[in-house]
Amino acid sequence: MQTLRTLTKTKLIGYLQCHKRLWLEAYRKDLIHWSPESQALLSSGRSWGEAVRALYPSGILIGDVFNPAKALAETQDLLGEKAPVVLFEPAFRHSGVLIRADVFFKEASGFRLIEIKAARHPRPEHIQDLAIQAWVIEGGGYPLKSVALATTAPDFHADDAPLEGRLSFHELIDEAKALYPDIERWVSQALDVLGKDMPDIEPGEQCVRPYACPFREFCG
Ligand code: SF4
Repeated sequence: MQTLRTLTKTKLIGYLQCHKRLWLEAYRKDLIHWSPESQALLSSGRSWGEAVRALYPSGILIGDVFNPAKALAETQDLLGEKAPVVLFEPAFRHSGVLIRADVFFKEASGFRLIEIKAARHPRPEHIQDLAIQAWVIEGGGYPLKSVALATTAPDFHADDAPLEGRLSFHELIDEAKALYPDIERWVSQALDVLGKDMPDIEPGEQCVRPYACPFREFCG
């Protein structure tokens, strides 16, 4: 088994939920089993992405989902140009952590990041998610003037309605930055977990909160 030395935001979030989840996601993806509800949520991702992009029609989508090197290069090229730009799914890397942002703005006055979630209010896991993104983006050389979470009703269906006018914006730059020292520790501990055997962790509350874990069938 080759030890992984690169993390993604998803893997770090998995680590925060359960060390065993991180290990399984890295080495035993074949054991993933999504419930029908989670599967439906995953398949709605495409229309969700389209609804987000419709909010900023001049924005540019960075594709290359399976080619991070290409996505990183494309992001860097577009941000290196003088003109302001809106990017969807741009890629950034810092200290071995790779992230893709929902919406990223290069404006005359600086850079800003928006993450969009179907939720009534910002929750602690959303702030961790934003903080990891902001830490990577700033570490990669793009100082942020704003880190915002945009929330919409949890029962919103992108297939049925546009997102415009349905978002509440929450500025969370201070909360995100307050987590930066923790993130360095998370990265080092997560890499430590990946360098060892599968952690021996019993199922419990962490299997469904804050996210439904796709290894519940395996863990029992
Ligand atoms: S099912 Fe529970 S114990 Fe097993 S990996 Fe997921 S969160 Fe951890």
